[in-house]
Amino acid sequence: MRCLGLTVFLLIFPNFLGQEQDRKEIFLGGIFTEPPDVDDSVLSDEEAFNFAIDIANREYSDVKFTSVSEESDLRTNGPFDSRLQACSLVNQQALVIFGPKNAEEIDIVQSICDNKDLAHVITRWVYSSADFRSVINFYPHSAYLTSAYFSVLKLWNWKTLTVFYEDNESMLRLGDLLNLAKNEGIIVTVKQLYEGLDETPIYRTTLKEAVRSGQKNFIIDCKIESLEEVLKQAQQVGLMTKDYNFFITNLDLQTINLEPFQYSEANITGIRILDPLNEMFHVKAGAIMRQKPNFNLTKMRTETALLIDAVSVITQVISRKLSIKEMEMTEISCNSPKSSRHGYTIANHVKTSKFDEMTGRIEFDGNGVRSNFDLDVIELTQNGISKIGTWNMSKGLVITPHKDEDIVEDPLSLRNKTFKVITCLTDPYCMLKENSGQLFGNDRFEGFAIDLIHELAQMEGFNYTFIIREDKSNGDKNKVTGEWSGMIGDVMHGVADLAITDLTITAEREEAVDFTSPFMNLGISILAKKPGNAPPSFFSFADPFALDTWIMLALAYIAVSVSFFVLGRICPDEWTNPYPCVEEPEFLINQFSLSNSFWYAVGSLMQQGTELAPIGVPTRMVAGMWWFFVLIMVSSYTASLAAFLANENTITLFTDVESLVQNYEEKGIRMGAKRKGATEGFFRGKDSETYKIIAKYMEEHPDDMVGDNKDGVKLANKETYAFFMESISIEYETQRHCDLQQYGGLLDDKGYGIAMRKNSTYRKTLSTAILKLQSSGQLDNLKRTWWEEKRGGGQCLDSGDDATPALDVRNVEGVFYVTIGGTLCAIVLIFFELFLSLLKISKKYKISMREALNNEKKAFLDFNSNVKPAPKAKSKSGSKSSGESGKSNNNTGAPTYGFIPTITKDTLDE
Ligand code: GLU
Repeated sequence: MRCLGLTVFLLIFPNFLGQEQDRKEIFLGGIFTEPPDVDDSVLSDEEAFNFAIDIANREYSDVKFTSVSEESDLRTNGPFDSRLQACSLVNQQALVIFGPKNAEEIDIVQSICDNKDLAHVITRWVYSSADFRSVINFYPHSAYLTSAYFSVLKLWNWKTLTVFYEDNESMLRLGDLLNLAKNEGIIVTVKQLYEGLDETPIYRTTLKEAVRSGQKNFIIDCKIESLEEVLKQAQQVGLMTKDYNFFITNLDLQTINLEPFQYSEANITGIRILDPLNEMFHVKAGAIMRQKPNFNLTKMRTETALLIDAVSVITQVISRKLSIKEMEMTEISCNSPKSSRHGYTIANHVKTSKFDEMTGRIEFDGNGVRSNFDLDVIELTQNGISKIGTWNMSKGLVITPHKDEDIVEDPLSLRNKTFKVITCLTDPYCMLKENSGQLFGNDRFEGFAIDLIHELAQMEGFNYTFIIREDKSNGDKNKVTGEWSGMIGDVMHGVADLAITDLTITAEREEAVDFTSPFMNLGISILAKKPGNAPPSFFSFADPFALDTWIMLALAYIAVSVSFFVLGRICPDEWTNPYPCVEEPEFLINQFSLSNSFWYAVGSLMQQGTELAPIGVPTRMVAGMWWFFVLIMVSSYTASLAAFLANENTITLFTDVESLVQNYEEKGIRMGAKRKGATEGFFRGKDSETYKIIAKYMEEHPDDMVGDNKDGVKLANKETYAFFMESISIEYETQRHCDLQQYGGLLDDKGYGIAMRKNSTYRKTLSTAILKLQSSGQLDNLKRTWWEEKRGGGQCLDSGDDATPALDVRNVEGVFYVTIGGTLCAIVLIFFELFLSLLKISKKYKISMREALNNEKKAFLDFNSNVKPAPKAKSKSGSKSSGESGKSNNNTGAPTYGFIPTITKDTLDE
């Protein structure tokens, strides 16, 4: 304390004893690395060194310390450069050499100092620094740091952890810690943060792996320059939530910007040696700030503080412990065999004395390494870094209860209150743990409700004890006495403070107790066995098409057959000469008689073909469209047929509550719900006829009512039994009993809440906490865990209804339209052809168009015949048109064509 007073005094009055006369000049050498970015608020090592020498010069009157320094470039410096720098300092008569920072260079400087008997001061972590007598390392020794780290790990009782290390040095630093952890039975996974050489390393890949592995506890060892980026990327992959714990080994955690992670709720803990409340820290930092006003105290790195401490300690030893006046200063150089003969003495004095500096107590153990130092255990909270305990070698880890004077006690706060929480063994809200060992207290239970209470307790800081209600009665009001039974009664009578299970919020219960906001929404529905299989049907071959498709198919067939008949008669090309060797036949015949048209269409439909073949373009077009139609329909039919023959038909007894009520008597279906539960209460006193019938049934059949949902599920599994149950419980059961399913929709809409005594002050706090859990997605996660993952969840996810639906007209609508479209085109085309044909006939046979048309009309309308007279020129004697002459011939006897056989319409018709 006296020393501190003197320091303060001298810092304020620097020249009080600062007479320059007779001051012996001592050179202190330093090898420093230029910091990569010059941030004015940060103190570089060289600045710190010079400030510390200034402070010492003001303090000691008989010595004048002068700094001599060399700059080392981390990128270009090799062992040879380090040697040159060290020798340069030796040649400048430096009595002590501070630095360098780079681990590879330290060894060379160390051996030169040892050789020249100069004190060598190190302020960084090295695995072992006691090999040379002249070396003084102010950095806490690795073994002691490991022991501090391990005490913190033990405090958390971690069973597994993942270590993220940056490089070989950090692996070396953690080696002993990992061994200790393994010896304790902790399962340790080690992962390198990033192996590449990029300027902005991608840590996300490694961090994501950790998320996937399900690990929650992490140790991070990396340079302070990388730490902020590591934490940032951890946040990006979702590691910065309250489920994850981080222990940062770097002693400078408090110097980086932690604001982005302050509200993440992730548990970030670290250790520091630099206590901002340390008096010496304030005195020295104050002196520095007078010379460098922009200097930001909070960014003071441990190694910088250690350098300031080292200068302070070395200058104290030189000026106080050595008799400066008598000191013989031998001129030394790297090339001469002479040595200074003071290095070991200085180192020896430092290692055998005790000092109080910025980094606390400075003491060295018998091995010459820094020991007996104090460390602060720090934690990141919403208000920033806060100290939660201390560690030192004698007392070990001491956690101090957190006192935050700024926090005013909130009257609604549940902190440190203890609640009795009543629940019952209803899956999956509360279940006994499947554990071979004996468990006690709350540890015996697990489930959705247990986790929910745990989350709320964590958020609001309360304690809780579970009480189990054996009869699983949620609560029902006695209509005569008005007394409440079950858990509602327990809450009202003070047996418990809170009740949680599948406890439905109902208007009647709201009058008796208070509920939190609902943590789950649901409605009543029906749970029953899946429909059974019916014997295969006689007409199952017809199943691939729905009835309307079959009807449309038949209509299409009729329409196309008639089209062939009609278009065939109109199409001139379809009227052909029955005897091609007769050039001018009396009659033409048409292959598309009505029966032939139907036969032709059915031949295509059955994919067998006929001997008929359309000749005219329009008839071919209709034929083409019909074939296309048939192709699609037959392919669709064939494709579905196999599935339909393999599928067994089901017998559905009922589909929803209405059909259940209509059919339950006839089909012998029993109905029930949980006795004295909200579901039973729902049907009571309702106006709806359907619900009245159900309520009456329930009253008359007490044996069909069950005391527990599990019994209802068993009955539904075994019997023809419809169990009225809440949808959320149906969802849970159908995930585990694949023969059961939900029938119909929800009959109402309600929720589950936590019940507490009327006008409880903590209702609002708990409701807000539930809403927070809901909006953060934690409630959904909890539900997913207990419904779909744990205790056999997700077993029946694939057993959905996979019956193939019959193809109705809408499925094949397009092909009908294409066929109709093609036929319409053919109709347009046929009139065009007819027009051309009439034009040709009128020209060839010199008859008018009208006459030719009349002839065609007559032939068309004679539906009984597929023969028509061939067109002929008008005879000079004024005989009638060919058609008419044909007819007259027919009537008067066959006309003769010389050698051509006689052809009459009638003979052809025959
Ligand atoms: N959730 C109901 C209650 O709170 C119990 C189950 C039921 O009635 O379906 O009473």
